[in-house]
Amino acid sequence: MEEPDDSACAAACVPAYVTGGASITETKGMHCSAFPKEFCFFCTYERNASATGTESDLYGSLSDMVAHLADMSREPSAIAIHVFDAYETTVRHHIEGSPSWTKKSILRHIMYSGQFSQIVDTSVGHMLNALIARQNDALVDAATNTVIEENRKAFCDTVSTLLKWKAAQKNGLCGKSQGKKKF
Ligand SMILES: [Zn+2]
Repeated sequence: MEEPDDSACAAACVPAYVTGGASITETKGMHCSAFPKEFCFFCTYERNASATGTESDLYGSLSDMVAHLADMSREPSAIAIHVFDAYETTVRHHIEGSPSWTKKSILRHIMYSGQFSQIVDTSVGHMLNALIARQNDALVDAATNTVIEENRKAFCDTVSTLLKWKAAQKNGLCGKSQGKKKF
């Protein structure tokens, strides 16, 4: 049987903003559960409540790092690199079999597990900003130097969506972690 053909969209469509996470064109899915053979530290372990705040709170130190960087609106791919480095240097050798935790697996978890909803929220902002930049490129007809009305409407629509999204973020309606402990 032939592989499902997703080349039609792959050729014709590109994302406005690349999260670096799993693509919906990946036929297996985009959640950790679809990749049982790939090690995911966050899925395999959970926070050790009795170790919270201590040096042995490995899970907490990594998940707090993700939350902290997400609160700073860092890009998902940049957060994954930080997590990868921290896992390699401070966590991996404490884990049975010292499995490697790939950047792809980290991204998949932080983007799609639902554990870090603020990352998804931040990505929506990046996507809208990227859309605005791209739409801006198509606002004026180069030949006639006139505004392309249809594109202008779509552009304004994206701008007002971004403003609404920002207002919702400010009001804490998008799950942005508030009052979370800093480390
Ligand atoms: Zn996971």
